[in-house]
Amino acid sequence: MRIPYSKLPATGTTIFTVMSALAKEYKAVNLGQGFPDFPMNEMLIARVNEAMRAGYNQYAHMHGYMPLRETIAEKIEDLYGTQIDPETKITITPGGTYAIYTALTAVLHPGDEVIVFQPGYDSYIPNILVNGARPVLIPLQHPGYSIDWEMVRRSLTPRTRMIMLNSPHNPTGAVLRKEDIRELRSVVKGTDIFILSDEVYEHLVFDGMPHLSMLRYPDLLERSFVCFSFGKIYHCTGWKIGYCVAPPEAMNEFRKVHQYNCFSTDTPKQVALASFLKEKDQYLSLGSFVQNKRDYFLQLMKDTRFSMLASHGSYFILGSYEHFSEEPERDMALRLTREYGVATIPVSAFYQDPVDNKVLRFCFCKKDETLERAVERLSKL
Ligand code: GLN
Repeated sequence: MRIPYSKLPATGTTIFTVMSALAKEYKAVNLGQGFPDFPMNEMLIARVNEAMRAGYNQYAHMHGYMPLRETIAEKIEDLYGTQIDPETKITITPGGTYAIYTALTAVLHPGDEVIVFQPGYDSYIPNILVNGARPVLIPLQHPGYSIDWEMVRRSLTPRTRMIMLNSPHNPTGAVLRKEDIRELRSVVKGTDIFILSDEVYEHLVFDGMPHLSMLRYPDLLERSFVCFSFGKIYHCTGWKIGYCVAPPEAMNEFRKVHQYNCFSTDTPKQVALASFLKEKDQYLSLGSFVQNKRDYFLQLMKDTRFSMLASHGSYFILGSYEHFSEEPERDMALRLTREYGVATIPVSAFYQDPVDNKVLRFCFCKKDETLERAVERLSKL
């Protein structure tokens, strides 16, 4: 049947799926889609198995398995000094992307405006549009990708319903600084603007920088949906499990959408995570582990013509080729995959408007030998 009116007429297949499929077809080293290629923790796998054998195979509570929510609340208090009631403020979700969609759907009405920074993760804009709301695009300035708060102020209207933040930032690896928090506070003060804070790379922050989570600031948290992902913490992106933290009234709306969409999240994994998340070293050591990957990749990339930009967090780093080629990013990414056997992501895919700074996104959270193989190929360029 012909669809007479598409809700997302301009939306194609996500670039992550496109590039991963191409990588497979051309047997390329995949530094495109963000996922680790090394094995996850065996102990955590064993705990999921134990949970299944112990009979945790039916629906979990629709807001999430309570012991897991309690452990998350303990972790938040420990790391950010904020007390969170797991009963009213935490919901476990099938992944971070789902949590973001659910939060937007819970609060956006047709005609609402949402401040979104560009480049930005590719699900944000379709999530806004499908709810009949309007993305208000604010460019982050290449190559530092910091937020121009004056521009944010000028873009506010009585219809501004939400500001979307993402730190550490995908695709650039930029992180929020103290000045950003100060500016954010002054921008939202006295308004009824929500904050959607995508913090899925929470523990992947480098160079001794703190993660400036919305969870640290009660005045910001009271208007925020803060979204997290266990896949990024435990090297299991295919598990699709995460959570959202929000104040009770906002969380109540979130849960209305969630309960008739997914209803509840995978039970045995929640049971396993409830105990595994108590082992703090597992996540506290992640920053330096991934930072070493970044540093190793940076060192290897010196053998190529790419000039690498700064990355302070996430799985990602941008590489510029503007000094040696005019080729559009998408063409360059396709050609590198087909002819040189290395898949990356063109940063233009993170923009709504046609912006082409001649930068590609590389995922460095890979085995050393994967990075070596990729760079050996890239050095032929
Ligand atoms: N977050 C991952 C990335 O940016 C991919 C997620 C996805 O493929 N949907 O690569």
